[in-house]
Amino acid sequence: MKKNIRELKFSELEDLLIKLKEPAYRARQIYRWLWREKVSSFDQMTNISKFCQKYLSQNYSIQYVAIDTLIKSNDGTIKFLFKLSDGNKCEGVLIPEKNRITACVSSQVGCSFACKFCATGKMKRIRNVFSYEIFDQVSLIKKEAKNIYNIGLTNIVYMGMGEPLVNYQNVIDSIKYITSKQGLNISPKRITLSTVGVSKMIKKLADENLKVNLAVSLHSANNIKRSEIMDINSINDLDNLKESLIYFFQKTKIKITYEYVMLRDFNDTKEDAIDLIKFSKIVPSKINLIEFNSVKNSNFKKSTEKNTKEFISFLKKENIIVNLRRSRGEDVNAACGQLANLMETC
Ligand code: SAH
Repeated sequence: MKKNIRELKFSELEDLLIKLKEPAYRARQIYRWLWREKVSSFDQMTNISKFCQKYLSQNYSIQYVAIDTLIKSNDGTIKFLFKLSDGNKCEGVLIPEKNRITACVSSQVGCSFACKFCATGKMKRIRNVFSYEIFDQVSLIKKEAKNIYNIGLTNIVYMGMGEPLVNYQNVIDSIKYITSKQGLNISPKRITLSTVGVSKMIKKLADENLKVNLAVSLHSANNIKRSEIMDINSINDLDNLKESLIYFFQKTKIKITYEYVMLRDFNDTKEDAIDLIKFSKIVPSKINLIEFNSVKNSNFKKSTEKNTKEFISFLKKENIIVNLRRSRGEDVNAACGQLANLMETC
């Protein structure tokens, strides 16, 4: 099978064209055809020499991500099943809210982290998603947002399937495409990476100076409890995480967001709130409490309204910034933690 030319980095494309003795500006022209004009064959690249068109078509293919299925929830959330060029599938979500419209994208097909409350974690990790495939997901969701709601995207979150920080280089490259003028020209301030908390990679991200936001899936600020629901905590515990977050904040001055799924009688008591308050004061932060969304073969239940309210008021008394994120798109399995290639069955 021919290699997909969209997998090449700009520098690789430049090297290839130098080898073909093409002028220096050729790489930029071809990039524009591939990323902005989205042509499907080399002969559509009208300002490229016939020789170059022929060489490229003999050696490369041009592949894009396609929408396999699209399903709309009663609350306006739209779930996408994307088809990747090798036939694998991943999911994305468009979430319209009052003042913003968010695209949620996948960074891996499946996930290797197996968090106990997450549907994606019940799948195996199949493969990393290429940077162009992340870019295409955003670009396709953006197009549908325009078609359906006549509105542009305001935010992009890497909160779909997979762990972005273990598909590091593709994720970083995708951010560069999304934020570049030749790409989607979206500000990095509008982008959030969500991670299970891989400390080593959080530090690496801090060093990139990309200015994207970081959300950490905390879910418990007690080591024993966190290890019970998130395997990563046994090798990368809260002290480790803490150290990397201090580093991230010192380097970037960007406030951290903690995600905290409210699990009934597991992490929603006063003691849990006290642990969370302590942890959240390590660096400037805010907390997004997330309503638990039901997942097949999971014993967890969503916190009661009463427990959730009390939990919020404990946090607020300590001047913690806290938001409750209600489920969106639950009727079509598009809510947080429900993405698992289940489109066929929902
Ligand atoms: N791997 C990354 C990104 C994917 S998950 C991460 O762990 O952050 C996106 C968010 O959904 C995470 O905060 C995750 O913990 C949360 N989530 C997973 N399962 C959930 C569920 N059943 N209900 C609500 N949120 C869930």
